[in-house]
Amino acid sequence: MLNQVPPLEPIDFFEVDLALREALEREGGGWGVGRAHDAGTVAGSIEAREHSRRAERNQPLLRTHDRHGNRIDEVELDPSWHWLLRGAIERELHSLPWREPCPGAHVVRAALMALWGNANGGVLCPVSMTYAAIPALRDGAPELAVAWEPRLTRPDYDHGALAGMAMTERQGGSDVRANITRAEPVAGGGDAGEDVYELRGHKWFCSYPPCDVFLVLAQAPAGLSCFLVERGPGMEFQRLKDKLGTRSLPSSELELHGAYGRLVGEEGRGVPAIARMVNHTRLDCLLGGATGMRRGTVEAIHHSRHRSAFGAPLVDQPAMRNVLADLAIESEASTAAAIRVARSYDETADSAFRRFATAVMKYWVCKRATAHAAEALECLGGNGYVEDSGMPRLYRDAPLGSIWEGSGNVSALDVLRAVVKEPAGLPAFIAECELAAGGDARLDAHLARTREQAQTIFQEGGDPQFQARRMVEELALALQGSLLVRYAPPAVADAFCAARLGGEGGRVYGTLPTGVDAKAILDRALPA
Ligand SMILES: Cc1cc2nc3c(=O)[nH]c(=O)nc-3n(C[C@H](O)[C@H](O)[C@H](O)COP(=O)(O)OP(=O)(O)OC[C@H]3O[C@@H](n4cnc5c(N)ncnc54)[C@H](O)[C@@H]3O)c2cc1C
Repeated sequence: MLNQVPPLEPIDFFEVDLALREALEREGGGWGVGRAHDAGTVAGSIEAREHSRRAERNQPLLRTHDRHGNRIDEVELDPSWHWLLRGAIERELHSLPWREPCPGAHVVRAALMALWGNANGGVLCPVSMTYAAIPALRDGAPELAVAWEPRLTRPDYDHGALAGMAMTERQGGSDVRANITRAEPVAGGGDAGEDVYELRGHKWFCSYPPCDVFLVLAQAPAGLSCFLVERGPGMEFQRLKDKLGTRSLPSSELELHGAYGRLVGEEGRGVPAIARMVNHTRLDCLLGGATGMRRGTVEAIHHSRHRSAFGAPLVDQPAMRNVLADLAIESEASTAAAIRVARSYDETADSAFRRFATAVMKYWVCKRATAHAAEALECLGGNGYVEDSGMPRLYRDAPLGSIWEGSGNVSALDVLRAVVKEPAGLPAFIAECELAAGGDARLDAHLARTREQAQTIFQEGGDPQFQARRMVEELALALQGSLLVRYAPPAVADAFCAARLGGEGGRVYGTLPTGVDAKAILDRALPA
């Protein structure tokens, strides 16, 4: 057999990711290099690849009743799923910053998420929800945090606990205020005679039903409220979703028949209570988008180096070099932004930037991820369309980040809302972008335009919602450009500024202008 591409694995995904390695050091996570090499090596092993394929092939099954007709609601999961999730839990992807609240802990965790995502994106859903539930519990129900945190943060797959969330209902997911699930107070109804609520209603999406606890939104007498509900009586999982992607991950429909809920936050203040959780899961959506792009870039470059057509390796052919370099700069820009945003979770002083930047970058990176996956898949030709390559899974999984925890429009509108209601966010974001002022004329001009646009969009006669996506896109590009101008090699920063900010690029990947140093970009993106 001639002209066949060797398997990518085994590989240390961290070792070959210079952008991630530099970002980890720069953003305060240098102490996590050893952990990152471990995660990168295990995620890049042949064993991990085979587990991921198997978990994807043997999709989860919901058994609602046993043979005697008793309700059991058990999800059968392939042993490979457990291998993948165990690996994430034992590496503290769900808990590192809460167990070791030291500088850089969120950054190290973000890098570990980006690396383990190469093994399997599906398992990162319960990991992310568990990580994100902790701040919601600490803020909204300290006594529940005391009770549950030791188990939720334990890096022990067999004896720890996992948390899920159930907000979305049939009649609306983005608009959670339209929730109709009811929560009736039961004075002294809890096991220890404490006050609880009985929840009745239906949830249209509830991922990972094996979770031990769920944060659930329901209408209490004072309005929409957030509850911690333990898996058990009063919860019936009706069926699993037949999904486009993340097929190894069970996502369910859930009926609540008087399940006991304990209040998180104040009654009637459910949205701010769960927002603490959602901000953290949004960070993980952003990381997931960057991870997918990185994997697509690596697969595309690897293939092109080992496959020839018309007498020369693909990687040496100018049209392919353009595509690969374009994919690579998009990936590096997304990695740099994701790890910078993760750092803001480590620093209290960065809170204005954190909230704003998470929404902006979640929107943009997740939006870019699907087209990026399609282009990376195409680099492998027909092989990219075949499951063995792993590219169909990458492609199927890509749109999820742009739907979950705020679909595109909802994320963009969230940024608009933040501009008006949290006036410190936009200036903090712009100030971060301006740290690169004077570094590249195209970035400076883009920043000036973006600042002006963010002001004029709200002027009388404007239509801010109609323009929201455009504004968020420009903001996101400004942060990515700023980070690359400050920290990336000149070849990467120059190509990004020319194509994305200077108007010299085209509309699809592979349209970088003449003069960019594609060789330098590719040598960096995947050292030979
Ligand atoms: C794989 C998967 C797992 C999930 N897991 C969970 C889970 O565990 N728990 C959970 O609670 N939910 C979960 N969800 C649900 C998810 O969060 C919702 O699907 C999402 O929030 C969108 O809600 P919706 O589906 O009701 O769409 P809608 O809210 O009906 O939105 C439809 C479209 O309208 C747009 N739109 C909405 N409002 C506006 C507006 N004001 N202006 C302009 N456009 C607008 C949206 O951007 C979207 O494109 C999951 C979804 C998926 C796909």
